[in-house]
Amino acid sequence: ARQQFDRPIQVIEGPLMAGMNVVGDLFGSGQMFLPQVVKSARVMKQSVAYLLPFIEEEKDDSTVSSSNGKILMATVKGDVHDIGKNIVGVVLQCNNYEVIDMGVMVPCDALLAKAKEENVDMIGLSGLITPSLEEMCTVASEMERLNMDLPLLIGGATTSKVHTAVKIAPNYSGPLVYVLDASRAVGVAGSLLNKNTKEQFSEDISKEYHDMRVKYENRDKSNNQISINEARANNFKIDWKAHTPKSPKLKGLKVFNEYDFADLADTIDWTPFFRTWELAGTYPKILEDKIVGQSARDLFKDAEEMLQKIINEKWLKAKAVIGFWPANSVGDDVELYEDESRKIPIDTVHFLRQQMKKRSGKANMCLADFVAPKKTGIKDYIGGFAVTTGIGIEEKIELFQGANDDYNDILLKALADRFAEAFAEHMHMLVRKNFWGYAKDESLDNEALIKEKYLGIRPAPGYPACPDHTEKSGLFTLLNAQRNTGIELTESMAMLPTSSVSGYYFSHPESQYFGLGKISKDQVQDYAIRKDIDLKLTERWLAPNLGYQR
Ligand code: SAH
Repeated sequence: ARQQFDRPIQVIEGPLMAGMNVVGDLFGSGQMFLPQVVKSARVMKQSVAYLLPFIEEEKDDSTVSSSNGKILMATVKGDVHDIGKNIVGVVLQCNNYEVIDMGVMVPCDALLAKAKEENVDMIGLSGLITPSLEEMCTVASEMERLNMDLPLLIGGATTSKVHTAVKIAPNYSGPLVYVLDASRAVGVAGSLLNKNTKEQFSEDISKEYHDMRVKYENRDKSNNQISINEARANNFKIDWKAHTPKSPKLKGLKVFNEYDFADLADTIDWTPFFRTWELAGTYPKILEDKIVGQSARDLFKDAEEMLQKIINEKWLKAKAVIGFWPANSVGDDVELYEDESRKIPIDTVHFLRQQMKKRSGKANMCLADFVAPKKTGIKDYIGGFAVTTGIGIEEKIELFQGANDDYNDILLKALADRFAEAFAEHMHMLVRKNFWGYAKDESLDNEALIKEKYLGIRPAPGYPACPDHTEKSGLFTLLNAQRNTGIELTESMAMLPTSSVSGYYFSHPESQYFGLGKISKDQVQDYAIRKDIDLKLTERWLAPNLGYQR
């Protein structure tokens, strides 16, 4: 069959590229949504890949590349998430950019060496977890040190325009731009690489970021923060006499191997799935949405098909470990004990407390407030969990990537993430009803579960109530999580496989999620001492809460 293409190759290459550009244009003008874009791009990428050997043969040396530019993309060192980056990559390709994707956990030196070797026109960095913000500064300073002047694009879930302007930009004198999402990437790349616009565009951005820094420096520093001591005095007060904590039924750790995915599908929260694909709206209403409804329905149909394959053909493995410990709070820490003698703590979990000025009657919350203080003598408990649904994903992903199938690659990653959250939800239910057993008679339907209409919480290190990612290492030790589930922690405390959730169980009926928000230096100093970690290092881990909150 290939032979038949022998002659018309040059004729075909043009229309294929034009097809990509049409898709890019339709997306850019809001007439096509991301799932269709990625799907259409697949058809064209696969065709081009098929024809490429012939095209190369026919091209003579004088042919110049017709691409708009070469872009090097990577998720920074220590970070593992790449759905957003891959989406941006596809969209850029649809707009006739050549994309070189180095994948995840890419060290700075490897990235910059590749940039040189490939003589790229631009670098795009992505990151999902907060330590990546620091790593992006490192990359920027290194580019400055090497006298590079390539445009640097910053994107990903933890990044923001303010952070880019205030923290990253001062490290680099070359063009540096924050990119909100895939729909913006093309405009930015175009403006930066077009000879006629690039200077003005870079200058405008540089001025905008300069103004943001000035504004940031002159921000209202009139204190809407209170001292950590005042915050502690205004803690969340629980009447410990009114509630007797339940002793967990399960003693020691419990490991779940090869949990059945069929039991997890019902607790999938679909709304974030559509957000991943940049379709706005809540499930199930989104399926009937006037604007994105058709796209959402098509995507959902593909998702359900793949979901059935994941279940029936056992594409992935789910593993989990849970455990409970006698525990009491001591200030903002929670001590965990081996047994009911509660003498020597086997571990101490460190939490942070809100320091924003509150309206009267509102507490400055800390997760430790939900565990009975040691001095009450009350026997309280805390639990821990680590779940993953990403075991075995690499194999499938390699198949999809080998087949130039970004659509299924992204779909599978997004579904595995959904399953991980569903597993966390499902396990939490088993814990309440059975393994801890403080809510034996709970009977909530799946919708109520997804809306979290139950007693107790499962806060996860790295999330708003406890943003310190380093607390994951203690949790992992307690659970022997790496041995028991196969989840590993990177140097930035990201979990691998990415489709994993870990956290604590709190049983008190008044326990609730909150956001820590901005905290002050006095607390960070105290926290560093409690954790016995270098202050500078602690500040780095908590940087977003020390002032670059969005
Ligand atoms: N149902 C959503 C949950 C996302 S939040 C979904 O499927 O995407 C992800 C995890 O973070 C939850 O499972 C919970 O463990 C934890 N979490 C949620 N809100 C939190 C908060 N404010 N502070 C700490 N952890 C939180």
